[in-house]
Amino acid sequence: MLINIFAAEALKGATELENSFNELVNAAITAKANHAAIVEVGKIKFVEDFRKACEQNVCRKYATNWMCPPGVGSFEAVKTQACRYQYGLLFQTVHQVASSFDWKGMMSAKKDHDKVFREVLSNLKNKHNLQEILALNAGACEFCNRCTFLDNEPCRFPEEAFPSVEAFGIDVINLEKTCGIPYYNGKNTVSYVGLILFN
Ligand code: SF4
Repeated sequence: MLINIFAAEALKGATELENSFNELVNAAITAKANHAAIVEVGKIKFVEDFRKACEQNVCRKYATNWMCPPGVGSFEAVKTQACRYQYGLLFQTVHQVASSFDWKGMMSAKKDHDKVFREVLSNLKNKHNLQEILALNAGACEFCNRCTFLDNEPCRFPEEAFPSVEAFGIDVINLEKTCGIPYYNGKNTVSYVGLILFN
């Protein structure tokens, strides 16, 4: 009988957890993310080689921004930081662009994504009362026109600055696959992700 009571309690706990996860996913969709899912941090693949891709500076942001390498911290340091959390809300926004060369369209899409990112984050903090969080966004922080990293000065708005998922060496494609979120959303689209880790 005692075992049954424990089993019922465990089931109740699992249902409550599932309900609160569903609420977080809905919060992302309500904020206009196209896809969202809950991930377990223990199942995230951290790949040091992705940091080497940052060093090759294809995005031209290497050593220009506090939220990207090397300013964000070493691979081991950021991985340890992320692994202090148990779960994550992964969400993706999808945007139409004129062509795969439409740089202006991509930049405008990133601004739209950032609005969604900030709204999701605000909902999680204020409506869902999640205080112990680590929010990671797509790409470098663009809150200021010129990041103070370039002037060897501390970040001016630490509350507004979010490290990039790429800087954490997170295998985003693998993560999306494990949650059934499409990596490719069709011709002339660009997709960005946000990942908010929480306990
Ligand atoms: S808030 Fe400004 S200073 Fe801080 S990381 Fe972002 S761009 Fe750089």
